[in-house]
Amino acid sequence: MFQVNEAMTEIINLRFQMRSAASTIAIIGAGFTGTLLAVHLLRQARTPLAIDLIEKRGGFGGGLAYSTGNASHLLNVRAMNMSAFPDEPRHFVDWLSRREDSRAPVGLIPPSGHAFVPRGLYGTYLAEQLDDAINRASPGVTCRMRDDTAIDLTRDGHGFVLRLETGETMAVNRVALCLGNFPPQLPGVELSADAEPPQFIADPWAGDILAKVPRAASVLILGTGLTMVDVVLSLLDQGHSGQITALSRRGLLPQRHAEVRPYEDFLAHRRILPATTLGILRVLRAEVRGATVQGHDWRSVVDAVRPYLPHLWGGLPLAERRRFLRHARPYWEIHRHRMAPNVAGRITAARERGQLTFHAGRLKTVARDGSRVLTTYSPRGTDSRARIETDILINCAGPESNFALIKDPLVRALLDRGLIRPDPLGLGIETTLESEVIAADGTRLENLLALGPIARGNFWEMTAVPELRCLCAVVGKRLASAGGAEAADSTTAAGAR
Ligand SMILES: Cc1cc2nc3c(=O)[nH]c(=O)nc-3n(C[C@H](O)[C@H](O)[C@H](O)COP(=O)(O)OP(=O)(O)OC[C@H]3O[C@@H](n4cnc5c(N)ncnc54)[C@H](O)[C@@H]3O)c2cc1C
Repeated sequence: MFQVNEAMTEIINLRFQMRSAASTIAIIGAGFTGTLLAVHLLRQARTPLAIDLIEKRGGFGGGLAYSTGNASHLLNVRAMNMSAFPDEPRHFVDWLSRREDSRAPVGLIPPSGHAFVPRGLYGTYLAEQLDDAINRASPGVTCRMRDDTAIDLTRDGHGFVLRLETGETMAVNRVALCLGNFPPQLPGVELSADAEPPQFIADPWAGDILAKVPRAASVLILGTGLTMVDVVLSLLDQGHSGQITALSRRGLLPQRHAEVRPYEDFLAHRRILPATTLGILRVLRAEVRGATVQGHDWRSVVDAVRPYLPHLWGGLPLAERRRFLRHARPYWEIHRHRMAPNVAGRITAARERGQLTFHAGRLKTVARDGSRVLTTYSPRGTDSRARIETDILINCAGPESNFALIKDPLVRALLDRGLIRPDPLGLGIETTLESEVIAADGTRLENLLALGPIARGNFWEMTAVPELRCLCAVVGKRLASAGGAEAADSTTAAGAR
């Protein structure tokens, strides 16, 4: 009886809490996306609003990308494009120039902002924006930073009840899922269960796991993208002398950044944008050919396409989106997500001295043989098998975006409760263009939002700052002006819009 009364009191308190505050929102995840959403809400809300910003990493602002303490881990976007605010393009560069920091000496930042500074410094910039927004918020607009993990969410009337790992439950009007990137999975093969770190490193971002790799160990890295690049730099920084091999299906490496002249807005002249993958590639290739003749760099053309990506992606039918992912994605990724010049220089040097080698092929098996890891793969374009034997295997296959495979407790709870459904391309979860989550039964949940890489299915490119900052600004403005009254949810059939 006592327990029942206690539970009832808790529910009544939760409901009271919800009614007494004009509006409440829980933002789960305080990486770039969650932090910037909070900043926009704090800056723009004019009626009372209580924000709970929940982060499990133990730090606010940096998230996975910008919490690294390794100064060799540089931004892979030039400083000029990393302003947190789309309407203040010089904001980050000006912040850098006001700051005396040994990680980015002011003299090394040219007026053009073509500089690549440590990612950890960018995390400091974001944390400062949050502090500043909290201090300047209107009366009654507050942000509580909660060092906790969200593990469950249930609907309660028009709002939600959120459960945290520490046992607390919170009733809120709205929830924003800003969960970011999830650890990689081993692509399609099983490793014997007893292989543990550092022999097998499943998630290279897990704490300081790379510090445990013996300096002379031979290492195989699965994946040749930007995560592989970070891992190689971390190993080299700690004096690694052993051989490093990297394997991916095509063996393609990210291209290097270069300072280039902007190219004309060539897609603005087209009345109709191509609606097939092949059509897009043809337009792009033809433009690059023409631009090169005029003395432009291919990078300028790729950059000129970027503002049109949501339109191009939005215009592709599902089958064409699939075709893009199957055939064009790897080539797009290496041209679009590039390495900072210094970083590229270190990778090239390691390659030239023979310490770093790359292979192209399809991974077949991974097995443990005592202290060794035996990996087999089919070299690209062949049916044969090749074998690589190393001391260590590190999985850099890229973040897992297929929600059917993600084991995170909150994700499992959201799926089990039918609050989210995986998007059909395995890129994340289904949302509307306004970032509202689409539940398993197809209803649009106006008060459950998802922003960032988990919602990239609608946009394709929704993983880097230039796109994320626009989304956070738009959604933040909308929520801030909606105020408390509007938080009364109405769910709508997703197709009815
Ligand atoms: C290594 C790396 C480097 C990158 N470098 C750049 C770059 O230089 N420039 C650029 O534009 N983009 C870069 N990106 C892209 C990056 O995805 C975005 O720039 C941006 O950081 C994404 O922010 P996010 O908040 O959406 O995700 P994240 O940074 O992943 O943050 C999500 C946060 O949510 C927290 N979280 C998740 N689940 C819960 C839960 N249940 N409870 C509480 N907290 C939770 C996580 O701990 C995490 O801190 C990089 C990405 C990576 C992975």
